[in-house]
Amino acid sequence: MDNPRIPFLKPHLVELPAYEPLIRSIEQSHIYSNFGPLNTRFETELLGRFFTGAGALSTVNNATIGLMVALRLHGLTGRRHVIMPSYTFVATPLAAMWAGFTPYFVDVAPDDWALDHDKVTAALQALDGDVAAVMPYATFGNNIDLAFYADLERQGIPVVVDAAASLGCFDGNANFGTGFPGLVVYSLHATKSFPVGEGGVIYSARTDLIARLRGMLNFGFDQNRVSAEMGLNGKLPELLAAVGIATLQAFDAGAMKSRAAAERYIAAFGGPDFARRGWQTQRLRGDVLRPFFPILTPPDRPASGVLQHLEAHGIQTRAYFNPTCHQQPAFRDCPHGDLTQTEAMAPRSLCLPQWNALPQEDIDRIIGLLASAA
Ligand SMILES: *Cc1c(COP(=O)(O)O)cnc(C)c1O
Repeated sequence: MDNPRIPFLKPHLVELPAYEPLIRSIEQSHIYSNFGPLNTRFETELLGRFFTGAGALSTVNNATIGLMVALRLHGLTGRRHVIMPSYTFVATPLAAMWAGFTPYFVDVAPDDWALDHDKVTAALQALDGDVAAVMPYATFGNNIDLAFYADLERQGIPVVVDAAASLGCFDGNANFGTGFPGLVVYSLHATKSFPVGEGGVIYSARTDLIARLRGMLNFGFDQNRVSAEMGLNGKLPELLAAVGIATLQAFDAGAMKSRAAAERYIAAFGGPDFARRGWQTQRLRGDVLRPFFPILTPPDRPASGVLQHLEAHGIQTRAYFNPTCHQQPAFRDCPHGDLTQTEAMAPRSLCLPQWNALPQEDIDRIIGLLASAA
């Protein structure tokens, strides 16, 4: 008999019994949104457990809106460009465009697949005074080095980190981003590392930034409910805050399963057999939680062929970031620097399934198929 089909992702949220009492409490309070009691509890518990209680955070209805508002608040007005990678999800440049800026794509480094610092410095010089913000992406939840970006903040260049895949990814004893003086935006989408369904979180070490941001997420209202700036509705409903609280309570158990699955892949692709043939993995820092396993196929073996080979065996994979952003029609007119590394990586990019309940035998079968294929 054929093996059952393996989907790329199988999103799994906490189950109803874990948050049913919280939903009942909404029926008692009759508060359904507007940063209500469950939202406040979720924010307080998250800040304490993941961010050592330092700084401040706000929920938002999704990370794309979060990035837009963060750029609008923190970006320098009167300047045009937001420096960002092209090797990212389209939400990164889309958010910059909705915030009124023009994406400027910069190349990534070959080891951790995140913005190349030297090329960011070169772009800042080339765009001389016309950079509104720098927006690095913490690629696939990796704990990228934030010291370089904290330095930019000190020089007066605003930084908004796209950390969509990073909630629950720890750098030492704190979540990625803890203590960062710019703005860090995380997603709570069902397919990300902290799955709630839809939603996001915006963190900063600067409590004043988060206080202003919260006004912007509520129609730009000031204390007198007068619209003081160009806000919008970016609030997380209480129903989802309830799921968030339960997700936080159940988080450690789920994270363990993802880690076990990743270790299988890391052992195989880190071994000499795959490395010798040109397979590459991402260099990771800290404790990274990825709901799938990203790899680069050998340079002489495009990911599209590997994808078809696995598909023929009922295994679904996804070629995230191929095409990269600057190769897609919506961003055709966006300026960019040298993108040699980005363009070399795109056709080699492939993500393998590694969701929580995926049996280890299935991962071994996937590794076996890749090892045996010519
Ligand atoms: C998922 C994702 C987003 C958008 O997050 P949403 O909460 O779905 O809006 C932004 N940037 C990157 C890199 C992502 O992977």
